[in-house]
Amino acid sequence: MKEYKLLIGGSWVTAQAKQLIDSIDPAQNLAWCRIARGQSEDADLAARAAHRAFRDGPWGSMTAKQRAAALRKLADLLKKHWRGFVEPEIRDNGKRLAEVEGQLSGLHAWFTHFAEELPKVRNLEIANTVPGIRNFLKYEPFGAIAAIVPWNSPLMIAAWKLAPALAAGNTVVLKPSELASASTLEFARLASTALPPGVLNVVTGFGHEVGEALVKHPLIRKVTFTGSEIGGQKVARAAAGRTIPATLELGGKSPQIVFADADLDSAVNGIAAGIFLSNGQTCVAGSRLIVEESIQEEVVSRIASRAAILRAGDPMDPETEIAPLANQAHFAKVASMIETAKGEGARCLLGGGRLHVETHPDGLFLAPAIFVDVSPEMEIWNEEVFGPVLAVISFANESEALELANGSRFGLAAGIWTQDMDKAQRLASRIEAGTVYINHYRSVCPKSPIGGYKNSGFGRELGPDAIRDFLQIKSVWSSTAPFPDPFNR
Ligand code: NAD
Repeated sequence: MKEYKLLIGGSWVTAQAKQLIDSIDPAQNLAWCRIARGQSEDADLAARAAHRAFRDGPWGSMTAKQRAAALRKLADLLKKHWRGFVEPEIRDNGKRLAEVEGQLSGLHAWFTHFAEELPKVRNLEIANTVPGIRNFLKYEPFGAIAAIVPWNSPLMIAAWKLAPALAAGNTVVLKPSELASASTLEFARLASTALPPGVLNVVTGFGHEVGEALVKHPLIRKVTFTGSEIGGQKVARAAAGRTIPATLELGGKSPQIVFADADLDSAVNGIAAGIFLSNGQTCVAGSRLIVEESIQEEVVSRIASRAAILRAGDPMDPETEIAPLANQAHFAKVASMIETAKGEGARCLLGGGRLHVETHPDGLFLAPAIFVDVSPEMEIWNEEVFGPVLAVISFANESEALELANGSRFGLAAGIWTQDMDKAQRLASRIEAGTVYINHYRSVCPKSPIGGYKNSGFGRELGPDAIRDFLQIKSVWSSTAPFPDPFNR
């Protein structure tokens, strides 16, 4: 079985404690590779390596143009070699081939984009703040940064962090999820041929061991975290304890609001995409359907007939429509939330049970589920399932729809389906969410920021400020004139 090491300071090393973690292929429910179980001493080595690469160079002393060239070289390598990451990622988290190929074939573009954006970040001179004295505003990198990533789209989310952080001139210690590290380690092998040693370090292991140790490490100057609400809160507390900034991209319970005047074919497609693609294991899963009373029956029955015919199978098979959930513990959590929903009185219209796939009898396949007779107090309406489970509530008018949409502690994304664009814009400005889609769902692009309102986190990833978010500003005052006597003597 393949065993992966840690990448520290440009070398592949075994974890100090020499322990390993089995990575389980959820389609077989079998271990397929082993990753190193890094702990605080490995976090220490990685943070020191990142700090050295930043302080002693060459990364910290390179010009923006040189860094952009290194990122373009990495992008070129990714264009040629991305296919090598597809199978390791699918073996780790069970995601469907089409979706993983979609994400990884575009991996290079995040690096190209931020290499191109880099020249736009310019130091400024403030004119005449104080007569005769010049004042320059300089954007400077933080130094060594910890980037902590979840299992659902490990490499794409890592790229969202790495591309702007490295463009800005920081060095990074990347901590992938203990449940899906292999594609990131394969990527790191390639990336280390384009980047100087120590610029990208990868330490694998558990969050409470190596992740926490990184955030608490005195040489780490900023943390960028994507993961669960609880994980984010722990990271935020540890970062606050050290007075370092943390960007948090956390969970969601995103509403999809469908009005009777919507193009229902599109709405049904968008709702299915929002909750059934990736098995609902996406932060922006549109897990709460808020539908106008008069069309509830039609919309729900159309989504249900769509879900009922999806084919479960090998995630590596391009024909597969339902891949397994990502791991046993997650499967058990989703199954238990389905039982709680039933216990609380919600009616499961279809799905929710384990699916048997002949070729993969031990695979963690779950039939997509739709719940009606849901009320706003129920767990299924309030908590992130992170699975293919849709909860439905109907509304009578626009203000009720808005109240239902905003009646969540999360605020990551929202969908609005209507042909009345005035109504759509009105709602878009009142919805508490970091991303609002109108007659559309799920797009991401490097020019558009993503991130949460409320408990879905703070700070943004991507978008026009992405590189600046990895820079701190320094105000430099400069004079060649004599400094006057402060007491005018
Ligand atoms: P998780 O919080 O369990 O783990 C995420 C990462 O944090 C892992 O690498 C884990 O090892 C690490 N970690 C856990 N505890 C830590 C600690 N105390 N200190 C430092 N690191 C720690 O989340 P997960 O189950 O891997 O991912 C699913 C969650 O991620 C969902 O809630 C989903 O909505 C969210 N997510 C959010 C976005 C977004 O952009 N907002 C994108 C994808 C996933």
